[in-house]
Amino acid sequence: MSGLTTTTSQTDMLRMMSQMMGNPNGPPGYDYRKPKFIKLLPVDSGEGLPDVIFEDPYTFQPQPDLRGEIRSWGVFPVTLDDMLGNISRMLCLMQQSRYYMSELKHTPEEQFIKVIIERKRQKLLNVDLGDLPKQDIIPIYLTNIHDAQGQPRIWRRVRASAGLKIGVFQDKILCPVMGWYGAKHALVHFTDYRDGSLYGPKDANSVDCVTYRSLVGCQWLPDDEYMLAHLFTSEGQTIGYLYDFGDKWSHEIVVEKILPVDESDGHVEIIAGGGMCPGENMQGTYHYQDFLNEYDQDNEVKKKEKKREILSSPNYKYFVKPPLLAEALASTNSIRSGMRNYVMPMSVEGLNPRMFGDPKLKKGQSIKQTFPDPHDSPGYFKETTSDKKDSRSVSACGFCGKPGSAQLVLKTCGGCRQLLYCSKEHQKEHWKSGHKKVCSREFSK
Ligand SMILES: [Zn+2]
Ligand SMILES: [Zn+2]
Repeated sequence: MSGLTTTTSQTDMLRMMSQMMGNPNGPPGYDYRKPKFIKLLPVDSGEGLPDVIFEDPYTFQPQPDLRGEIRSWGVFPVTLDDMLGNISRMLCLMQQSRYYMSELKHTPEEQFIKVIIERKRQKLLNVDLGDLPKQDIIPIYLTNIHDAQGQPRIWRRVRASAGLKIGVFQDKILCPVMGWYGAKHALVHFTDYRDGSLYGPKDANSVDCVTYRSLVGCQWLPDDEYMLAHLFTSEGQTIGYLYDFGDKWSHEIVVEKILPVDESDGHVEIIAGGGMCPGENMQGTYHYQDFLNEYDQDNEVKKKEKKREILSSPNYKYFVKPPLLAEALASTNSIRSGMRNYVMPMSVEGLNPRMFGDPKLKKGQSIKQTFPDPHDSPGYFKETTSDKKDSRSVSACGFCGKPGSAQLVLKTCGGCRQLLYCSKEHQKEHWKSGHKKVCSREFSK
């Protein structure tokens, strides 16, 4: 337990229950603390708020947990395995949705984190990155799943430029090299364990996201505005990466090496790896770890059953094969314009437009619905897609993955006017390796 953990006794729980039942100020005579810098609605007693909310957000220094890591801006003390804490937060959230969201007011956590994010933005604005954006780094990408000997079961060692935008790295490199269907399917964010800052996609509004945000961390910095160099700064550093806020696949990315400028050319490469990507519906890291441990002990018949279960997961069934790195690098729009949501008919979606409504569409965007086999799934997928190409500021060479920069202006393919390249050579190489078959035909509308 970290020093930040709120104590949630049964009495607390009962008190919260009593508030839920229509007595918002708790039992008479109970003296609740009032935060100094956060505005509570008169009806909100402040019960169930994390302790840190009562501090000054302008001077707040987040404290590391026992692992030496800071998560979710250091504000949310609840960990994924703290059941009681999660329930307490859920109750607090229900209260907030009644008092704040219905009146479109910022919740106490949102008010607090807004200040911390602004402090971080200022810090990033003034940070000296040196040569790092021109340097290549070798991160090892690990799911937190280990075998009986404690060895990682699923991992990838890659190489990429630290000048890449975090969102591009996630969409065009991490997802495809692991084999995840992709960012449009699930929500992701990165955690800088040194200060708990989070980086993730803008305009995320899926049900999973709303639920998760309320539990652990409300807001994040936009991942298409910051480079890996802002986040991956030293060898040996560990960064958190959470894929899918519903099932929660928690990963770690360890910066193994930062190469000198003269050995860096910006190209993306998979150096090594092991283990098959978990299926999308294998229910997250903890469940899959147990599943694989059981698999190790199983007889041949049971082993076959388990294999079938993995292979019937969306990664493998609906999408046939996971996206490949080269394919992902050559896609025109990496940056998500909206999340891919799974929609259950008759679900809560639509009840609260602020929480679950469709995003405002920008130019070139449309809402696309995909219906999986109705025998497998009663719902459907809904996502915002865009036929606009990536802006140059977030793009990378469609062949090698080298990021564009002020010094290196990427050149556009003359045929489709969509793909960008770092050099004439790479445009030629890519043309020969298959782009001539899809150029214009696919992109010119
Ligand atoms: Zn290139
Ligand atoms: Zn083209």
